[in-house]
Amino acid sequence: MENPERLQRIKKRIEGVSAMDRRNFFKASLAGSAALAAGAASCPAAARESHTISPDALGLLYDSTLCIGCKACVAACKESNEMPPEFQANTEQPYWDMPLDISGKTLTVIKVYRHGTMDKKDEEQNGYAFIKKSCMHCVDPSCVSACPVSAMNKDPKTGVVSYSKEACIGCRYCVAACPFGVPRFTYDQTFPQISKCQLCKHRWKDGKYSACAEVCPTGATLYGKVTDLKQEAARRRALKPGSQTSFPRGQLGGPDQSYPGVVAKYVDHLYGEKEFGGTQMVMLSGVPFDKLGYLDLPPRSDAVVTETLQHTLYSGLVMPLVFLGVLGYAAKRNLKQYEEEKGGSHD
Ligand code: SF4
Ligand code: SF4
Ligand code: SF4
Repeated sequence: MENPERLQRIKKRIEGVSAMDRRNFFKASLAGSAALAAGAASCPAAARESHTISPDALGLLYDSTLCIGCKACVAACKESNEMPPEFQANTEQPYWDMPLDISGKTLTVIKVYRHGTMDKKDEEQNGYAFIKKSCMHCVDPSCVSACPVSAMNKDPKTGVVSYSKEACIGCRYCVAACPFGVPRFTYDQTFPQISKCQLCKHRWKDGKYSACAEVCPTGATLYGKVTDLKQEAARRRALKPGSQTSFPRGQLGGPDQSYPGVVAKYVDHLYGEKEFGGTQMVMLSGVPFDKLGYLDLPPRSDAVVTETLQHTLYSGLVMPLVFLGVLGYAAKRNLKQYEEEKGGSHD
């Protein structure tokens, strides 16, 4: 039996030590975090080189001037990815499917730019133009670098950015990291997951390619190797507006489905060539891309910084170990004080 006075002294001591250690714990935690942050900032790998595109990278060329807004691509995308129709709650007559943006049920949409009288297609003033939205399959994707558990991956050969629902922990870092607002989290499902275009890679085993490009009647969405798609884009930009040329459809390098058409007046910009380190979906347009909802992004991906920070903080479980160390120190110190009070010792 312990002496009551002695017990009281020990209790007060423990309370005092606990209060002191709480302060020490927070101080130590802050110091640890600051040291880590300083380490990350001063780390020689903080500004790693941007990733470069694979010579076998696959992608899409979207030419807004060829798009007629038929949305066959949206329907084909849904069908091939087994996604249900979407209705808008605020419409009196819900049509069979009318997504206004990409979502957990829609991986691509066609939007329309409108100005003034909307008389002329592909004109900024008093005109209109169509624009596709889907994953850009970035060369150095920030969604991949932000994911702490490698649920987002970029294939080293094809460059396709895909998602593993088995690995995902639902943190949604990828949603926050994407500069194009692409990954969507399916909050309305019992087991939510990330939803995004994976370039229809599930169709490759059957010798098929992206459904959106396969059905596009005008070749506005074209599938192929990114190097070939960029060459095709450069060919179109070099042609005189109003001249006749041949436009391929479906898959570049596949069966010839080309047709004769008239060259539009393009803005001098292949979107995705440089933006954010480059993307594997590249786009041509007659209207400036900032008017079509595509941001003027820097030529370097954020991934070069965020990846280093992420890997520094989580490398070898550094953050959890710091907290574990601080907790261990506090517990050991409490125990030592208690043993001293009891007249014993503990190492
Ligand atoms: S299928 Fe082709 S033409 Fe029709 S909306 Fe899609 S990209 Fe435009
Ligand atoms: S567009 Fe967004 S989701 Fe797609 S690869 Fe780039 S960062 Fe990732
Ligand atoms: S590549 Fe496939 S998943 Fe991606 S937008 Fe086209 S049809 Fe949809």
